[in-house]
Amino acid sequence: RANSQKFEFQAEVSRLMDIIINSLYSNKDIYLRELISNASDALDKIRFLSLTDKTLLGEGEESQLEIRIKVDKENKILSIRDRGIGMTKEDLIKNLGTIAKSGTSSFLEQMQKGGDLNLIGQFGVGFYSVYLVADYVEVISKHNDDKQYIWESKADGAFAVSEDTENEPLGRGTEIRLHLKEEAGEYLEEDKLKELVQKYSEFINFPIYMWASKEVDKEVPDDSETEEVDEEKPSEESAEETEEVDEDGETKEPKTKVVKETVYDWENLNKVKAVWLRDPKDVTAEEYAKFYQSMAKDFTNEKPISYTHFNAEGDVEFKAILFVPPKAPYDLFENYYSNKATLKLFVRRVFISDEFDELLPKYLSFLKGIVDSDTLPLNVSREMLQQNNSLKTIKKKLVRKALDMIRHIATEDPNETADTENAEASDDEDEIKNDKKGQYAKFWKEFGKAIKLGIIEDATNRVRLAKLLRFESSKSGEGLTSLEKYVSRMKDGQKNIYYITGQSKEQLEKSPFLEKLLKKGYEVIYFTDPIDEYLMQNLTEFEDKKFQNASKDDLKIGSKDEKAKLKETKEEFKDLTKWWKNLLGADKIEAVKVSNRLADTPGVVVTSKYGWSANMERIMQAQTL
Ligand code: ADP
Ligand code: MG
Repeated sequence: RANSQKFEFQAEVSRLMDIIINSLYSNKDIYLRELISNASDALDKIRFLSLTDKTLLGEGEESQLEIRIKVDKENKILSIRDRGIGMTKEDLIKNLGTIAKSGTSSFLEQMQKGGDLNLIGQFGVGFYSVYLVADYVEVISKHNDDKQYIWESKADGAFAVSEDTENEPLGRGTEIRLHLKEEAGEYLEEDKLKELVQKYSEFINFPIYMWASKEVDKEVPDDSETEEVDEEKPSEESAEETEEVDEDGETKEPKTKVVKETVYDWENLNKVKAVWLRDPKDVTAEEYAKFYQSMAKDFTNEKPISYTHFNAEGDVEFKAILFVPPKAPYDLFENYYSNKATLKLFVRRVFISDEFDELLPKYLSFLKGIVDSDTLPLNVSREMLQQNNSLKTIKKKLVRKALDMIRHIATEDPNETADTENAEASDDEDEIKNDKKGQYAKFWKEFGKAIKLGIIEDATNRVRLAKLLRFESSKSGEGLTSLEKYVSRMKDGQKNIYYITGQSKEQLEKSPFLEKLLKKGYEVIYFTDPIDEYLMQNLTEFEDKKFQNASKDDLKIGSKDEKAKLKETKEEFKDLTKWWKNLLGADKIEAVKVSNRLADTPGVVVTSKYGWSANMERIMQAQTL
C-alpha cells in the first residue's frame, strides 16, 4: 500500500512466526479459537470502560458487543470481526510485532523441546497462530482514540501499517482477514467453522454470528398450470393460501409454487447461557470440562482434577466456579511471588478483571475459575474495588470452598480412604465431582508444594491445610500418608508426632537418630523436600500433638522408669561428658549428653532445639553457593 510504514518484527516474534508458518502441526484448527478469544477480550475491555463512560460504546450497531465471522470463498478470505476496544496505530505496532511478551521465549523453548503448539494461548502469543492457515493476514482496526488502520504481514520478518482509506469504516473494533493458504481451504466451509466454534468457543460470553446459508421455501409464480402442484407444496401456510383461493372460487389469481432457495443471514453459533449462572444440577461434567478448557486456555484434553460450583448467599452474594487444573502451569513455582491469582472477576455478568489478586491468597494461585458478584459495585475502578469490604468476605468464602474441594479430592479417592474413615462432609450444597481414583496423588504431585506454602503463609487455615499434607513415613509403605492417619496409628501414651528431615527416605531410614524410636514401634515422618524445613517452623502441632524433630536434642522417649534410669546414668557419667566437651572444644559445641535415643550406635551429633537442623544447614549452604 502506498501510504504504508514498514516495521521489523522483534527477533523472537520473528522466530516464532517462522516456526508457525512452516509448521507441520496437524491441528491447525486452533487459530480460530485464539482469534475469538482475542475478540472476546477486546469486547470485555470496551464493556468495562463503558461502565464509567457510556458514550464510549457509541450508538446503534456499533454498540452491539458481538463477534462476526464471514467467508469470501472466491478470494479465499476468512474474516473475524469484533466490536471490541480496537487498536490504535501504536497498539497495532506494539501488540502485533515489536514488543515481545514474556511468554514468547518460554514458548519458543517449549517448542524446541517438542512442546504442544496447542498451548500457544497460555503463553500470550495466540494471535500468531493465524499463520498456521494463512500466508497473508490483514488486521483492520479502529480504536475510539485514533483513525482506522490496516496492519498487514506475510510473516516474512516484517509488517506494515497504513491508514485505511479503502475499507468500510468499522465504527469501532477489529477485523482480522486471513488470506488462507492453498491447503487450508476447509476453513471456507460453513460446517467446519460451525464445528470449530461449537468445539472451542461455546463458552464465549458474547454472541458469535456467522454469515451462513440457509435453505428456505420461496413462492414463485407457477407457469405449469397443472393441479398436482398443490399437493407438492410442503408449507402449511401456502396450503392455507391455496384453500382461500379455492373458497374465493371466482377470483382467478395467478398460481404459485414453492421452491427451495439458498439465502444468507447471520446465524448465532453460541446460544448457551453462561455456565456459572446455570443450576449446577443441570451442568454435566463434560460441560464443566469444556468450560475449564476455554477459560484456562488449557486445550490438552486432560480434565480438571476437580471443580466446585456454588452460589454464595447472604450479605455478599456471588456465584463461582473453581477448578483444580490437571497440571501446574510451567512457571507456577518459578515466579511464585510475582504470580497473580487468575480468577476472572465479573460483577453482574460484566467482566471486570482477570488480574485481580485480591480474590485468592498466593498459595492458591494455581486454581482457575470465575467469580460473578451481585454485591460489588459496578461503577468503580479496579483500584477502588480493592478497598471494598465485600471483597474480603468473598475471598474468605472462596478459600473455604477451595480447601473443601481439595479435601474432597482425597475423601472421594478410594486410594486415600482405604484404611481410614471418611472425613466429614462439606456443609454446603455445592457440587463436587471428579474421576476419583488416584486423583489425590495426582493433585499432590502437581500442587503439594502450594499446600505447604499455604501452611507457612495462612495461619487462619493452617489446620485445614495440615489435613491436606502428604508425606512418606516409616509406616507409609510405597505410598504417602497423612497426619490424620499418623494420629490414628499412634501408640498408647505417645504424645508427640515424630519427624525427621533430610534428602531422601532411603537416607533417613538408616539414620541413627531413629534407632530407638523405630525399635519401640513409633512412626516417624520423613520430610525430604527443602520447603519442609520452613513448613515445620510453622507447623508446631496437630490435633493437640506436638511435633518433635528426631534430630534435635530435646527428643525424649521412654517410660517413667526409663527416665529415672536415664537420670541416674547421667549422674554416673557426668565426669565423662565434661571431659568430652572439653576435648571437642567448649566453644564449638553446646553440650555432651547421655541419651536413651540410640539402640546400637554409640553416639550421634544432634542440633539444639532452637537452632537449625543439620538438613537446614545443608539447604542454606546450597542456597548461598
Ligand atoms: P494475548 O491475547 O494472550 O494477549 P495474543 O497474541 O492473542 O496474546 O494477542 C496479542 C495482543 O494483540 C493482545 O494482547 C491485544 O492487545 C492485541 N489484540 C489481538 N487481537 C485483538 C482484537 N481483536 N482487538 C483488540 N486487540 C487485539
Ligand atoms: Mg489471545
